[in-house]
Amino acid sequence: MSQPARRVQEFLAAPRSMFVAGRWGDALSGARLDSLDPATGRVLTSIPAGDEHDVDVAVRAARAALDDPRWRDLSPMDRGRLLDRLADLVEENADELALLEAYDNGKPVGVARAVDVGTTVKLFRYFAGWPSKFEGSTIPVSPRGGLKVLNYTVHEPVGVVAAVVPWNFPMSMASWKLAPALAMGNAVVLKPAEITSLSTLRLAELIDEAGFPPGVVNVVTGRGAVAGAALAAHDDVDKIAFTGSTAVGRQIARAATGNMKNVSLELGGKSPNIVLPDADLAEVIAAATDAVFFNQGQVCTAGSRLYVHADVYDEVMAGLVERTRRIVVGPGTDPATQMGPVVSAAQLATVGEYLDLGREQGATVLTGGGPVTGLGEDYAGGYFVAPTIFADTDHTMRVVREEIFGPVLVAMRWTDTDELVTLANDTPYGLSAGIWTRNLTDAHRLAGRIKAGTVWINCYNYTDPASPFGGYKQSGWGREMGHAVLGSYTETKSVWVNLS
Ligand code: NAD
Repeated sequence: MSQPARRVQEFLAAPRSMFVAGRWGDALSGARLDSLDPATGRVLTSIPAGDEHDVDVAVRAARAALDDPRWRDLSPMDRGRLLDRLADLVEENADELALLEAYDNGKPVGVARAVDVGTTVKLFRYFAGWPSKFEGSTIPVSPRGGLKVLNYTVHEPVGVVAAVVPWNFPMSMASWKLAPALAMGNAVVLKPAEITSLSTLRLAELIDEAGFPPGVVNVVTGRGAVAGAALAAHDDVDKIAFTGSTAVGRQIARAATGNMKNVSLELGGKSPNIVLPDADLAEVIAAATDAVFFNQGQVCTAGSRLYVHADVYDEVMAGLVERTRRIVVGPGTDPATQMGPVVSAAQLATVGEYLDLGREQGATVLTGGGPVTGLGEDYAGGYFVAPTIFADTDHTMRVVREEIFGPVLVAMRWTDTDELVTLANDTPYGLSAGIWTRNLTDAHRLAGRIKAGTVWINCYNYTDPASPFGGYKQSGWGREMGHAVLGSYTETKSVWVNLS
């Protein structure tokens, strides 16, 4: 057994604790939740089921950390150095973290290594550079009465930041919040999804090892409706940064009005992927398959609505079906696997309901359409579903209108560009879109007409810490990453100095 594999087995062998005020412990109530392996349905280990009392202790610890000179008085360069050290530690433990994510979430270990761990390293690395560069301004104001003043702005931490993240990219979603929040000098209480908390708990060990003072990062595990809701409602939380479903985002926004805490939301999507007749079809076939089936389709930006020009529809669909049938479905821990199980029995049931619904509403299954069995006795209890393509779909169908968050593609043909744009925008979501064409004028024109926070032209599902990410419409509030996010983790203070 390799060293990372041995370390993962040791990690899973013990019931896990949560990390509050620099100490590891149980929930105050002693309650626990099992963490399951989606490939087998068996228990991996257990985590504390934190509730509002644990949240309260964590929020106090974060508040105290903001006043701790070891954090408050750290120079911007030294804050950046801590983030860089954390990036180093994640990199040094990359194989172990990837394998742990593959066990806990079910995703292929190669995806976990390249995307989840890779993104986490990049996030901490990129934001490590910002503390010493996010500057205020001196502003040429024109006060009444000719008063001579110096007016300048400074950016101060917002304060206690609550971060609530989903299960599809567990550790990497945590890093999307942690990196900018810490770069700007905040203290954080993080709640991972209850079904995928393990990599974040391991990350908390690395945060501790990197030398962040106690209370700067706290991880409270537990159910969303309990611990997550308590964070959203807590009067001493200054900001909540949430990634998850639009339904829960709405609840968080409502709860946040109690103390008018600052809210940022990254929510769902049902993204159009658009193929023009002049596109490189071989490239389209490969990329459109990955765009929707990557991470078992559990991606907020999944290219789940495919619009193919009628002239090339048959060729593209034949290629997609052929490629989809070749996807190797299996346990994420097997390096040969290209698509793992979906994350939970509940998610398997949801996807199954949509597969039934699609058929009932008249869609045709071109490939897939049900569970995957026959993977061997060990995996008989796993949550495997075949990558599925629906044709003969239209916008009256729920499989076209609703986010499935599983490996299901709906395909439609188009001929008129204006009608295409109307259909592409006919959704409550606005997270992302893809456009495939060799004609750059068409591509840019179309990009301008799609209501989405990210548009990929001749590529799909790329993100980078330097580029802003977020949604139009019900896909969210605000932007993450890039320098656009820094303002949401700071308060801007305008200072007026009378020089007369
Ligand atoms: P979810 O909304 O059910 O849960 C997300 C997190 O919120 C979890 O930690 C959960 O415990 C917590 N939660 C649940 N109920 C809560 C409540 N009442 N109050 C506070 N917290 C609560 O979402 P999910 O099923 O974990 O993830 C899938 C969803 O996330 C999809 O809709 C997907 O599109 C979205 N997502 C969006 C992005 C993005 O960046 N836009 C990224 C990943 C996932």
